Amino acid sequence: MSQSQSYRSTRSTGTQSLSFEDVVMTGLAKDGGLFIPSVIPKLPSNFVSEWKDLSFQELAFNIMRLYIDEGEIPNEDLKSLIHASYSTFRSKDVTPLKSIDEKNGLYLLELFHGPTYAFKDVALQFVGNLFEYFLKRRNANAKSVEDRETITVVGATSGDTGSAAIYGLRGKKDVSVFILYPTGRISPIQEEQMTTVEDANVHTLSVKGTFDDCQDIVKQIFGDEEFNDKYHVGAVNSINWARILAQMTYYFYSYFQLVKQLGDDSSKIRFVVPSGNFGDILAGYYAKEMGLPADRLIIATNENDILDRFMKSGRYEKFAAQSGTAEVKATYSPAMDILISSNFERLLWYLIRDNLTSNDDKKAGEILNDWMQQLKSTGSVVAPESVVKAARVNFSSERVTDEDTASTIKQIYHNHPEKYVLDPHTSVGVTTSYRFIERDSADGVSNVKYISLSTAHPAKFAEVVNSALTGVDGYSFEKDVLPDELKALSSKEKRLKLIDEASLEKIKATIVEELAKEPK
Ligand SMILES: *Cc1c(COP(=O)(O)O)cnc(C)c1O
Repeated sequence: MSQSQSYRSTRSTGTQSLSFEDVVMTGLAKDGGLFIPSVIPKLPSNFVSEWKDLSFQELAFNIMRLYIDEGEIPNEDLKSLIHASYSTFRSKDVTPLKSIDEKNGLYLLELFHGPTYAFKDVALQFVGNLFEYFLKRRNANAKSVEDRETITVVGATSGDTGSAAIYGLRGKKDVSVFILYPTGRISPIQEEQMTTVEDANVHTLSVKGTFDDCQDIVKQIFGDEEFNDKYHVGAVNSINWARILAQMTYYFYSYFQLVKQLGDDSSKIRFVVPSGNFGDILAGYYAKEMGLPADRLIIATNENDILDRFMKSGRYEKFAAQSGTAEVKATYSPAMDILISSNFERLLWYLIRDNLTSNDDKKAGEILNDWMQQLKSTGSVVAPESVVKAARVNFSSERVTDEDTASTIKQIYHNHPEKYVLDPHTSVGVTTSYRFIERDSADGVSNVKYISLSTAHPAKFAEVVNSALTGVDGYSFEKDVLPDELKALSSKEKRLKLIDEASLEKIKATIVEELAKEPK
């Protein structure tokens, strides 16, 4: 079944044929673009009957095999990487599907059964193992410590991504990880998750400053050539192709689970995805293009709504129309607080290319390049009507306020027989699902099912969840929400470095000092 696969940059105006390994280890292309596969593999028409009873791991293997040449990772190695990555999950299904409102055809795809209780684990557990695998191979002939190729992953977090990266990279040979976060501005559970990891290659830096200060410093470190040459600074941010690839599995897996539960495939199945950087839902787009018979992909945004505005107007604009400012709004769903959706560039490339009279990859790169330069200089790009129409073939969108986010958490808790508690990100998706369900009902449409992606465990966002459910009869965070494993974190010893000033020089000095202390 394996076919030859290579990669190109969305901004390339020439012929490119990069390997999967290059793409994973580099992250972002030199021209500033994002890596995409040269072709999206099309599945044979009998794939549903062939794949429907496979385990999550078997499905992941079949899908990944189409995007990674056997010459790069042999079958047995790819299988071991997948098994190692999902052995850390608490659910045998890895990403189980739960009926949440059977009458209305609403299902939750729980993506939070990984080590940090958030959906990013599905991708980052795999990415960590891939990094280690490629480095091990590159270092197979190294004769001394100095010969070894190493990576120093540096990232900033406002809470969620940092812990998933740490748990993906902990204990990996030849990889060191430094995560910066603003002192006192992340939730206690998030801080405990990051700072109680004992592995010597994990370093958490609590920086006196804001999240933006931390992010600025990380950007400066990436731009510092001398430092980069010496310490091989790497990233695991949401544009890494391997993350998108790993996320495709659960679209297929949940589709099969639902069709089996329903007993037939006559329903239209729609995916609703709480979106920020557009990485999660983009995996759904690839799945659909490969042949997954999903009816529609629905983007659910919070009040940082660039994606919703694009879908409605064709304007891709950094400046929020209502407020006229370029400030990101702090909402109840912080992991979706963005001004620009980095992965959207990949979708734009396909929309542009498919809109050309001949499928010309180079021309698509040229046009996209212009758009991205314009976005950078003016903060705004306006797509032609034909491109927006093409987006609407697969995607719809909704924007959800904090008020609605909180009220849906309350409503589901009330209505669900087991008093299900949604996290605020998931609630943005569920609120969106109900808007569609209401419209279907008004239109007399009845054969639609909604799979709403549940991206985090509610315990991670205690403040919002508690304020939504305070005063509700019998509700208790400790009893209804907090898992024992997270409860136990508070008694563990914390390991962190306090940096008393958001200073590039201080952070760089700390990185150098800490690296020297790591056992080699
Ligand atoms: C990252 C994240 C999202 C958004 O996913 P994107 O791929 O950035 O669109 C949603 N919910 C949670 C909990 C997240 O951590």
